[in-house]
Amino acid sequence: MNLAMIRIGHGYDVHRFSDVFLEDKPLKLCGLVLPEQRSLLAHSDGDVVLHAVCDAVLGGIGGGDIGEHFPDTDATFAGEDSGKLLRQVLVLAEQKGLKPINVDVTVIAQVPKLAPHRTAMTARLAELLALDPGTVNIKATTTEGLGYIGREEGIACHCVMLLGAES
Ligand code: MG
Repeated sequence: MNLAMIRIGHGYDVHRFSDVFLEDKPLKLCGLVLPEQRSLLAHSDGDVVLHAVCDAVLGGIGGGDIGEHFPDTDATFAGEDSGKLLRQVLVLAEQKGLKPINVDVTVIAQVPKLAPHRTAMTARLAELLALDPGTVNIKATTTEGLGYIGREEGIACHCVMLLGAES
């Protein structure tokens, strides 16, 4: 492995819960619609995990940030499937000869409980990143009731990703 071509990227995102469940904006994490009566407010589909993952890819390739590439003022991205945004960001990585090696995600949410969804979320993220599920890790934590997450006002997500040269 050529260590000169190893890059690390970090991504972070937060979305606020809607006061009421929005039928047209079901809770989506890792590209999966979760059977929860909650919605995240967003210009796109509000997939806070995939937004953090996109930013980690962009961080690793020196590609700026997600807001720069997909502005929330652009009607093209209204309600956009974040999986599509991730695919576009991965093309940018490919153009620089880089692809994900492994990814580590921490979802910070007081609600909903993510443990029942974690295996499916991991499989879906692995699929989107064309990675073996063994190289995709998703952790979930609460804030023990503290702060805006603890007040159940939204969900935050951190992502760290290693990228390397395609061989
Ligand atoms: Mg976002």
